[in-house]
Amino acid sequence: MDFLPIFMSLRERRCVVVGGGHVAERKLALLLRAGAKVDVIAPALSEELLRLAASGQVVALRRAFVDADVDGAALVIAATDAPGVNEQVAAAAQRAGVPVNVVDQPEVGNVVMPSIVDRSPVVIAIGTGGNAPVLARMLRAKLESLIPQAYGELANLLGALRERVRQTVPDGVARRRFWERTLEGPAAELMFAGRRAEALANIERGLAAVETARPPEGEVYLIGTGPGDPDLLTFRALRLMQNADVVVYDRLIGDTIVDLCRRDAERIYVGKSRDRHALPQHEINQLLVRLARAGKRAARLKGGDPFVFGRGGEEIEELAAAGVAFQVVPGITAALGCAAYAGIPLTHRDLAQSCAFVTGHHRADGGEPDWAGLVRPQQTLVFYMGASNLDTICASLQRAGMDSTMPAAVVERGTTLAQRVVSGTLTTLPALVAEAGCQSPLLIIVGAVVGLRERLQWFEQAITQKT
Ligand code: SAH
Repeated sequence: MDFLPIFMSLRERRCVVVGGGHVAERKLALLLRAGAKVDVIAPALSEELLRLAASGQVVALRRAFVDADVDGAALVIAATDAPGVNEQVAAAAQRAGVPVNVVDQPEVGNVVMPSIVDRSPVVIAIGTGGNAPVLARMLRAKLESLIPQAYGELANLLGALRERVRQTVPDGVARRRFWERTLEGPAAELMFAGRRAEALANIERGLAAVETARPPEGEVYLIGTGPGDPDLLTFRALRLMQNADVVVYDRLIGDTIVDLCRRDAERIYVGKSRDRHALPQHEINQLLVRLARAGKRAARLKGGDPFVFGRGGEEIEELAAAGVAFQVVPGITAALGCAAYAGIPLTHRDLAQSCAFVTGHHRADGGEPDWAGLVRPQQTLVFYMGASNLDTICASLQRAGMDSTMPAAVVERGTTLAQRVVSGTLTTLPALVAEAGCQSPLLIIVGAVVGLRERLQWFEQAITQKT
């Protein structure tokens, strides 16, 4: 992050705008909206600026800028069309320790002005660090159309009730629930429809009900977050991630996905770290029960789908036994995500009538898959967790009768920008993958459909294409 977004109070504070044209007018208008007292400085001023000065809304100084003009100012904006003057203003302000924005030369000052969506007191600021103002404006247009005009009034209403709600519902978690329930209920819609009195009555009723309610009960959301690309989350996953008080996640979940959880949700990492083993499964199960019993809404994030090689079943078995409420949110499993992003249809009218998901992680106690049972005509096989067993898998399939020229591919870090695909045949694949240095997480896909990739790949370029 190159700039820290903050909201600055300028009410009754002296600000300086250097420049006398339209750009200066625009910036000045913003400062006035924020209640600032503005000096505008330029040898020549536009009619509008003169009018504002005549009506006493700004102080106009019709002369060239001098360094001392920045002294004691809360914010300086350089808005002239002379880069040399703008630079002089920026240098003077920075020497005096005053924040300065230089219009159209963001790198010269130290403050950039965001695009804003104004539903005061709700204000959304969009910045691109000065890199792409047009992008910020496009985003702003989208938000303008999404956010009802009455948002500001809604915020004012909530603000007026805030102290009373704080007294009635002293517990922080319970209070947040109350507000969430209120805003998800009819009150917000009533406000948007301009029916303020009814909205207020609705909130009052809710508040009266809280006083007699039992303490909130916790819940666990077992959420499949897909194979990596955050765009593949479901709406429901995102909604519950935003709802959760605490997030429990492990190694396969990328930061971009964890960051989509509510900002102030507590984060508990249960995966392997350098100095620590992963938390054993039974401890994770107990942790979830404990969190829910403490009244928390816990989001347990799982890569892919929670019920496909995700041990999600074990986690909720314990919850069910403990009588804890839970929901399961399906996710896009690695096989589906990797196949789509690699251009390999898992079934095909002519080539594959079935598809099996198989674990490639064979237990030490001899639990190998039934190889002969897997070798069936027109069936696609997808192996999860097979990174260290690729040789065995390819050899065992051939021993069980699969054609050694059967197309096979490895998809490494599928659906992410780091995705790599190596394809070959049962005979050639292990050496090609070793050469490319592919590592877990990777998926092995075996079957005639792998050959379609040559025509259907769209997401990245092939690394190796030998059949
Ligand atoms: N529940 C998960 C699977 C967990 S098992 C799901 O439904 O996808 C972990 C295995 O999933 C990894 O060893 C790897 O084989 C596979 N996997 C998960 N994400 C992957 C990705 N982005 N690319 C390739 N394979 C992936």
